[in-house]
Amino acid sequence: MRTPLIAGNWKMHHGVTATQAFLEDLINQDVPTAVEVVVCPPFVSLPVAAMLTSGSRIALGAQNVHWESAGAFTGEISAPMLIEIGVRWAIVGHSERRSLFGETDEHTIRRARTAQDEGLGVIVCIGESLAQREVEQTFDVLEGQIAGIDRLDPRRMVVAYEPVWAIGTGHNATPTQAQEVHAFLRQRMTEAFGQAEADLLRILYGGSLKPSNARELLAQPDVDGGLIGGASLDVDSFSAIIRTAAECAAGD
Ligand code: PEP
Repeated sequence: MRTPLIAGNWKMHHGVTATQAFLEDLINQDVPTAVEVVVCPPFVSLPVAAMLTSGSRIALGAQNVHWESAGAFTGEISAPMLIEIGVRWAIVGHSERRSLFGETDEHTIRRARTAQDEGLGVIVCIGESLAQREVEQTFDVLEGQIAGIDRLDPRRMVVAYEPVWAIGTGHNATPTQAQEVHAFLRQRMTEAFGQAEADLLRILYGGSLKPSNARELLAQPDVDGGLIGGASLDVDSFSAIIRTAAECAAGD
């Protein structure tokens, strides 16, 4: 019912030369039609990535986007600039933006709203810290992070559940932990947008997702794909995850 989406967040890795080599390799590997694939390189690598992926099944995403469409915002990039070069998605609210750059839930929703208004799809990242999970605040934290989500268009959005304790640590959430949170989020999406929209909306898992754990996580009924950091930097591991997502979608 929901086409799985596999998105690679390269963070501050892969400049122009590495991006070109990666994408030439990935395009040669034939992306399965059952999976939607998004690659999110650093801003400077987006133009070359756009040239290389044009006409392919690989869509491009930016790692952030500003909440205004133009103006005096030194260092920021706007949605129209991204659209002009062929970008279709933007990540908003990644935990590194929140913890290292002071971005808030309100910034995240504003960035997402403007991006959608300009025509981008958004990958809205949420997730609890280890300390919050240990004192059983996971659901309260997530509830706070999605408080303004009903201001967004569900048709141009995916939600990425990324427990902060799992990002870049090698310790992924168990399939049971992921499914429990994803089912909770699906219920909240139903309250925000109604059953039909919530049934269509994809909820991705992110946090140390790699070829060795992809199958058990992607096979969960409410896990509709992944947002992948480390394992998306290598073509072979990224393609292996894409293939696994296609197999899970086919019920294999
Ligand atoms: C991420 O940063 O979005 C992420 C999921 O990273 P990793 O896969 O490396 O844990």
